[in-house]
Order: sequence, then structure tokens, then C-alpha cells
Amino acid sequence: MFQTVTDTLNKENSKIDDTMKAANKHQKEPSNTEQKYAVIGAGPAGLSGAKALKEVGIEFDGFEMGSDFGGLWNIKNPLSTMYESAHLISSKTTTEFKDFPMPENAPDYPSHKLMAKYFIDYAKNFKLYDQYYFHSKIESVEKQGEQWKVKVSHPERGTKTYIYKGVVIANGTLAKPNIPSFKGEFTGQIIHSSEYKKAASFEGKRVLVIGAGNSGCDIVVDAVHHAQKADISVRRGYYFVPKYVFGKPSDTIGGKIKLPRSLKQKFDNMLLKWFTGDPERFGFPKPKYKMYESHPVVNTLILHHIGQGDIEVQKDIDRFEGKTVHFKDGKSAQYDMIVLATGYKLDFPFIDKKYLNWSGMAPDLYLKIFHPEYDNLFVLGMVEAAGLGWEGRYEQAKLVARYIKGLELNDTAAKVFKKKKSGPQPDLSGGYNYLQLERMSFYVHKDTYRGLVTKEAKAINLKK
Ligand SMILES: Cc1cc2nc3c(=O)[nH]c(=O)nc-3n(C[C@H](O)[C@H](O)[C@H](O)COP(=O)(O)OP(=O)(O)OC[C@H]3O[C@@H](n4cnc5c(N)ncnc54)[C@H](O)[C@@H]3O)c2cc1C
Repeated sequence: MFQTVTDTLNKENSKIDDTMKAANKHQKEPSNTEQKYAVIGAGPAGLSGAKALKEVGIEFDGFEMGSDFGGLWNIKNPLSTMYESAHLISSKTTTEFKDFPMPENAPDYPSHKLMAKYFIDYAKNFKLYDQYYFHSKIESVEKQGEQWKVKVSHPERGTKTYIYKGVVIANGTLAKPNIPSFKGEFTGQIIHSSEYKKAASFEGKRVLVIGAGNSGCDIVVDAVHHAQKADISVRRGYYFVPKYVFGKPSDTIGGKIKLPRSLKQKFDNMLLKWFTGDPERFGFPKPKYKMYESHPVVNTLILHHIGQGDIEVQKDIDRFEGKTVHFKDGKSAQYDMIVLATGYKLDFPFIDKKYLNWSGMAPDLYLKIFHPEYDNLFVLGMVEAAGLGWEGRYEQAKLVARYIKGLELNDTAAKVFKKKKSGPQPDLSGGYNYLQLERMSFYVHKDTYRGLVTKEAKAINLKK
């Protein structure tokens, strides 16, 4: 069944590539931009923004530096951090757009190729191609009076500046690698996980993956089948969630039973221990935080391969010395290649920090979207939560579109929201004490967040 999906996918992909290439060649220059919004990015968040603006009749031009829709799921995209073996981590029904379900015959955890096709189908279905400019990189966004000056570069059209009525930023959160500094020097090959593409690159090498987030675990599992040796170094403990529980995708279990937070943490931890065992037995440190206080690692294979002796867990790095890595427990080992699966930093390289109200590690935006003062600059997709899915991103976009339209229509709820967004943030943690990590600076509790965003969107009345 899955083979059929993949075959169709390959044929469809080449057809789509040709059609889109032709479409882009004849694309005109952006025009009447002062009456429009600019949407930056064509990943799930940009797509959400485009569709939501279109639904309420707000004109926009979309800009994407890659060749097509799909964001990082399109492995051909210059900023894509996908690798050949990557699949969804959340299951398809938890992740899909509500009004555009994934095909019934798609697997529970589709590959990045299926996901890229899904986003292209979404764009075709909601007729978003006409509004998008591909191979178009936003170089800068600056305020000019009440409007925004947007500089766009294109390999053939050169660099041009346009004035837009407003800007919706959806450039993703996983593009700028976080590269920690280490003592000493490693003389083998060292890459960040964002550069990793195929398992064949590990052939015959002694490989050390640093960091056991979702990518780190996927990558060390890939290494097992090619590398001479595959180790993973960790500095903290993790909770490992299997992809399946009772034969069903784990994120589809227990959704209807709402337990109080502390009970849920205890109960789910117990359930995990039944299914995956105790990660300490496999050599991982005991987590110094409770379950759900950091993004869970969803991976069935890592403990399996550790159990088979294919992967060895090493402690935190002390220092490098040539090809030798010294660990904090006094052990050392030699490696040919290190993969830094050390995460990403939030980055909006085309806009000055002052325009995004940065505070500490992240922009301080109301509901992670709204600037306290500006009513025509928004960020979509700067949010993470277990199980948020594309629908969670679309709900953000819907609120933005309704807010813009609501203000145009002088709607009372939109005006009330305008005041609210310049005040203090609501608590988005759902009572969880999230780890103070950079990547957690835009982490929210899914139900709390979605509840607030959808409530605000619903309150705005566009029927005048
Ligand atoms: C291996 C892997 C697995 C994942 N699995 C899941 C999962 O199961 N579920 C989940 O919810 N999330 C998952 N994610 C997280 C991922 O971030 C989201 O799925 C999603 O892609 C975020 O969408 P986005 O539109 O915000 O950003 P992106 O998908 O990163 O898209 C941003 C787009 O903006 C474009 N862009 C950036 N800068 C510019 C510029 N200056 N000018 C023009 N265009 C620009 C980029 O080219 C890109 O196309 C995963 C991530 C990885 C790496």
C-alpha cells in the first residue's frame, strides 16, 4: 500500500516540478504592493498565513527563497534541515490540516517526501501558487512610516525594494544551527545535524552524535547500518516515547481523558516505563525534570539499538584532542566524524531585533505572534508544543487574518484585542515548569495555547 503512495508520489513530483518551473518563469513582478501584505516563507506556517489571508480577502504576495512550497519538508530547499530517513515525528492525524486530511492510504508517520507533496497539494487545492514568488529571498524588512520596506533578491530579477502595507513573517525556527563551543580541537570531520543528508555519509566511519533530541536520535540510528561505530553523547536525561502504544500512534492515545497535570505526568511516565523501560538502564542519565517539561523524544529504535549493543551512550563532552574525545566521566574514544545535533537558534536575519520586541532568547510577542504596538507585522510558526500540528499553525494565521480584517471593519473585539496585545502575556505554560533552554523559549502548552488563540479568533466578528 505504502509503495503505491511512493510510486504515485515520484511521478506526481516530476510533473509538479515542471509545471511550477514553467509558472515561475512567466511570473510577473509584484505590483500594487502598498495595498498588500508580504508573506515570508512557504512552509506550513507561510501556507497557513496565505490561506487565512485569502479567506478573509486580504491581498498579499508570498515570497519563498526555495523553489516550491513545503518549507523544510522540501529537501531541495536551500534551508531544509531534512535528511533522507526523516519522517513525521507526530502522527498524521495529529499533524494534518483539519480541512485537508492526508490521504487515507498514507502511513501513520509519513516520510518527508510525502509531506513535501502534501504541502504542494495543499497549495494547489487552495490556489496559492498565483500569489507566490519562488527563488525570492527577503534580504531586509524595515519600517517606513506606517508601512514596511521589503527588499527582495531573485537570481534573474536582481534585488528590488517594495513598499508593503504589512508583513507576515513565517521563516521557520530551524534554520540557524546552534554550535556550542568545546575545549580543544577535533581534527576529524565535524558537521551540524542541519548539514546531514544521508546515512551513506557514515560508511566505515567511527561516528559520535552529540545531543539526543529527535534529530540526534534519528541520526545515530541511521549511523548503525553504515558506521564502523555509532555513539551518542548526552548531558541530560530524556523521556523516550515510542511511536506506537497498544498498536496505535502514541500521540493519538489518551486524548479524550484529561488528567490533571501532575497526575498526567506520573501516569504517562509509568506507561512509558512499561513500554520502553527505564532509560537509565540503557546508560542515559536520569532526567532532572518531570515528563513534558521538555519536548519529548519520539523514537522507538534508539533504545532497541542500544539494547543490541549497536549504539553506546557516552557522557557529556569534556574536551577534544585530535580524533580523541574525552568525556566527563574520564572515558575517551576515537572518532572520525562528529555530528552536532545541538539544535537551532531563533533567527530573523532580515529584520532588526528592535522591530520584533526581542527580550532575552526570543522576540516577546503576544501569543508568540503579535507585536505590542504594530498592527501590521506578525510572526507565524514561532511556537513549539508537542502535537501542535499544522492545524495549530493555521489557527495562529486565522487569528492574524481576522485581526487585520476586524480592525479594518472597526470590530469591537478586534479593538479589545489590540489593547490586550500591548499588555502582559497570558500564561501559556499550562502549569508545566519548562526547562530553561533556548529552544524552550517559544514552547507552549498545546491545549492552553490553542484554546486562547481560537477563542480570540472566534470573538472577532467579520459579518458587518
Ligand atoms: C526532521 C524533522 C522532523 C520534524 N517533525 C515534525 C513533526 O512531526 N511535527 C511537527 O509539528 N513539526 C515537526 N518538525 C518541525 C518543523 O519545524 C515544522 O514541521 C514546520 O516545518 C515548521 O513550519 P514553518 O513554516 O514555521 O517553517 P519551515 O518549514 O522552516 O519553513 C520556512 C520557510 O521560509 C523560507 N524562508 C526562510 N527565510 C527566508 C527568506 N529570507 N526569504 C524567503 N524565504 C525564506 C524557507 O526557505 C522555508 O521554506 C520537524 C522538523 C525536523 C527538522
